[in-house]
Amino acid sequence: MQNRAQYVIIGAGIHGLSTAWRLAQMMTEKGQSVGDNIIVLDKGGIGAGATGIACGVVRNNYFQPAMRRLMAHSVDVWESDPEAFSYHSVGYMQISSESMHQDIIQIHREQQEIGYESALIEGQADCMTYMRGIFDDWQAQNITSVLHEKRGGFANNTKSIYGLAKKCEDLGVKITSGVTVTGFIKDSMSNAVKSVETDKGVIDCEQVIIGAGPWVRDFWDMLDLPKQIRIKAKDGSFHNNIDMWRYWQLEEGVLNVDPNIMQTNDGGIPPVIHVDTDAPLISDVDGSLVSDEMWGIYYKPDWHFNGIQGGAMPYKVETPVDELRIDPYGPASPEFIASPDFAVMWVSALAHCQKRFQGMMPKYHKEKSGGVGCFTPDSFPVFDKFCDNAYVIADSNHGYKMLGVGHLVAEEVMGKSQELLEPFRMARFETGDLHPVSNSPYPWS
Ligand SMILES: Cc1cc2nc3c(=O)[nH]c(=O)nc-3n(C[C@H](O)[C@H](O)[C@H](O)COP(=O)(O)OP(=O)(O)OC[C@H]3O[C@@H](n4cnc5c(N)ncnc54)[C@H](O)[C@@H]3O)c2cc1C
Repeated sequence: MQNRAQYVIIGAGIHGLSTAWRLAQMMTEKGQSVGDNIIVLDKGGIGAGATGIACGVVRNNYFQPAMRRLMAHSVDVWESDPEAFSYHSVGYMQISSESMHQDIIQIHREQQEIGYESALIEGQADCMTYMRGIFDDWQAQNITSVLHEKRGGFANNTKSIYGLAKKCEDLGVKITSGVTVTGFIKDSMSNAVKSVETDKGVIDCEQVIIGAGPWVRDFWDMLDLPKQIRIKAKDGSFHNNIDMWRYWQLEEGVLNVDPNIMQTNDGGIPPVIHVDTDAPLISDVDGSLVSDEMWGIYYKPDWHFNGIQGGAMPYKVETPVDELRIDPYGPASPEFIASPDFAVMWVSALAHCQKRFQGMMPKYHKEKSGGVGCFTPDSFPVFDKFCDNAYVIADSNHGYKMLGVGHLVAEEVMGKSQELLEPFRMARFETGDLHPVSNSPYPWS
């Protein structure tokens, strides 16, 4: 393995590769050789982390204006080459009960302000009519708002990550699999990272970019950054000793049916459906009450997973953060996989929404699925430089859809600060410039 590279990128997931892609484009535009100057290291391979198991949903629907602006930028990048990214621009629908109504009105208004096309439908009767215009078997209860985003949709996770890797390699980027980063050697004078230590040797570098998804905790430690921080609250008081990282388990699954079962009344591919409601959720298996609290699901037809694929609200992992075993990751984990309770909840929720899914529990795909995500204290990303030359992309598990973030990071690495990334600096915890909190049952909306 080479022992020097200008840019060492750790992680061949969505962020590492999209950063590599843009860096390589910029070097090429400047007439510089990409050659040995950009190397991507991954202990597994392309898409070995969260990117390779993501549901692949691409949406703009966020309550936080900074997230929305960032997502609009990423959707532009998805739309730049739908074929290479295996991206389906079918739109996205946020379908909610009354507790989220005001948030949704605000999201819709602010989407119009930034020119992101969406339609808002309000009131139970109008929502039902609108939904039945798309699916004639729609039956979800207590719905008082529908936000229909006309852009966004979903991408097939492995196909798109391989499309992205090809863009990198076509420009000369080296993607090296099977290399585990074990530490950093810092410059004794400046505290900058001067070399990356791996199990296959040391690589000297000028800049290191860390796109390590759920493993960000370990890189944070390697950089000697604080395990706990203090956060300034809205009232000006400080909360001390807050863990920098926490883990949630994402629950996803597949109904093994012909994906075309979900086609719209006119025979088309439907938008991604996301429902959050406080209507009682009754088991489609035995008629018992599954939940009388707010619940949420999302789903879409998926020809990669070969069925209807989607998920529900994640749950907080209680294992102390330093003790949590991330490896083996995803479906290979002995601990962190979707539970049987999830299957009943999700399939019952599908049946609650659309009659066509009633009685389909036997079709639930029983293979292991899901995986953990690593979240920041406010559940929003941190995109920032540490130790002078180590850029950390910690997306707080928002990130498959954030194909554009790597582009912005590459610009920053090359010295051009990006306004879209400013709200995601580490300093916000100390200054109290936190993102607004919504009424959604998810930690990431
Ligand atoms: C089940 C699930 C479903 C999801 N669904 C969606 C969705 O629908 N839409 C969405 O926007 N987001 C979704 N997400 C979130 C999204 O997948 C992640 O936010 C995103 O993929 C993170 O990308 P990344 O590039 O930062 O990290 P990853 O894709 O995790 O890549 C990190 C890479 O770093 C490598 N690595 C780790 N440690 C080392 C080391 N020491 N040395 C070398 N390499 C190392 C790993 O092998 C891995 O390949 C989902 C997440 C999960 C878990």
